[in-house]
Amino acid sequence: MLKGIEYMIKELIMVGPPASGKGTQTKKLAAETGLKHVDTGSMLREAVANGTEAGKIAKGYMDKGQLVPVEIVARIIKERLMQDDCKNGFILDGFPRSLEQANILDTILKEIDGDNEVSLKVIYFDIPFNNLIERIVNRRSCPACGAIFNVKTMTLKNEGKCDFCNTDLVQRADDNEETATLRFNTYFEQTAPLVEFYKNRGVLVKINAQGSIDEVFENLKVVTK
Ligand code: ADP
Repeated sequence: MLKGIEYMIKELIMVGPPASGKGTQTKKLAAETGLKHVDTGSMLREAVANGTEAGKIAKGYMDKGQLVPVEIVARIIKERLMQDDCKNGFILDGFPRSLEQANILDTILKEIDGDNEVSLKVIYFDIPFNNLIERIVNRRSCPACGAIFNVKTMTLKNEGKCDFCNTDLVQRADDNEETATLRFNTYFEQTAPLVEFYKNRGVLVKINAQGSIDEVFENLKVVTK
């Protein structure tokens, strides 16, 4: 055994435009691998719903499709990653979203990883942008179990209800055409440069994110083994 190495931590970072399927695929991968799904969008929505100080500030930015101030997100993510259930690894979905956040993540991971051996991969969801706004406006989610549906392409067992737990589905406040367009602008300006950044580090893996949920999941499994 190599000196100082205690166990292998597996860290995955999902990068891709809004509605590219990161959330859906990450849920599936987390269920199959036991790695913890850490999703900044959901954590921020929870903070907004709970009316916390961070949530009150975050809401204004989220409604405008902008990035929430980095101090808020960095604190949330650090607290989350330091919890015991992330000890063996995690899948980051929605963080980092800018080069500044990527540098902050480096610092956080240095502290968390210590001397342990780490496998880090950044998965880029490669998908044409043309149909993504349509996906967003047709997206509904289950507030109880977190399942995500497209009401245009999927036939639900009971209209407006979750196929898994029959709870009334909801639409995210920022899943309207106007805010979605702003989110794409934010993605192109601030998040897309991460692809080059991680490619230069040699940790980027591109997957074809076009196709059915199961097809994309197969592509994902091949590269995350
Ligand atoms: P999507 O990937 O579909 O755009 P998310 O649920 O990941 O949706 O994010 C929703 C919103 O939450 C973003 O538009 C942004 O305002 C905020 N947000 C999520 N993650 C971050 C982050 N890492 N930094 C700043 N803001 C974030």
